[in-house]
Amino acid sequence: MKATGVHLKAVKKSFGAVDVIRGVDMDVERGHFAVFVGPSGCGKSTLLRMIAGLEETSDGEIFIGDRDVTHEDPADRGVAMVFQSYALYPHLSVYENMAFSLRLAKRPKAEIDDKVREAAGILQLADHLEKKPAQLSGGQRQRVAIGRAIVRAPDVFLFDEPLSNLDAELRVQMRLELARLHQKLGATMIYVTHDQVEAMTLADTIFVLQGGHVQQSGAPLDLYDDPSNRFVAGFIGSPS
Ligand code: ADP
Ligand code: MG
Repeated sequence: MKATGVHLKAVKKSFGAVDVIRGVDMDVERGHFAVFVGPSGCGKSTLLRMIAGLEETSDGEIFIGDRDVTHEDPADRGVAMVFQSYALYPHLSVYENMAFSLRLAKRPKAEIDDKVREAAGILQLADHLEKKPAQLSGGQRQRVAIGRAIVRAPDVFLFDEPLSNLDAELRVQMRLELARLHQKLGATMIYVTHDQVEAMTLADTIFVLQGGHVQQSGAPLDLYDDPSNRFVAGFIGSPS
């Protein structure tokens, strides 16, 4: 799978009079696993939704690879987003949930079948393709949501707290699966969480967001060992 970096230049977002994102610059290298971490309400989802094109920027530019996508349609950006709520179609089978976007894009039947079965294999869903979402466990539902992203072969995967509805044990297991998936696909992944452990274990690069800015970014251990301010220290740093 091809991989493409994501680059934000002075991106801002206001809702009415409220400045949520106050000027964010960031470079996510191609093939990297980037994690946005920060307290609830700091704008992680908003930032991710702007990269996906689900939310307009108020200012600044977003590049995917060397393409300026700031005003491009979500469907043209080569990104696929996985939501916390799974957002599956309850009346469709697992197979049809995963096939949905490819059917919309009028891909040939044989290609759809190949892609759905390949994704189902990767995600251990091959025996569940005829089931409806209600017949699946929480972990399986989240795998279907990830499968819907995989079949589109995106350059960039965007995950918004995908594991936060799962119990602790399953969360650990899915975390390992996501790490394996990243290795296997080699795609660029941007992952939002408020969970420090998830951030530390999954990330190549962590971006700590607070107050509408990136407080610090870097490799997990660098942030842990050498937090640049008290907020980062409290959020991710080593106890001192
Ligand atoms: P996070 O994902 O970090 O918890 P969000 O990006 O969801 O934070 O939200 C950041 C801030 O922006 C919050 O104060 C939230 O209430 C506000 N916000 C998000 N979306 C909207 C919207 N569509 N309209 C108005 N305010 C919004
Ligand atoms: Mg959020």
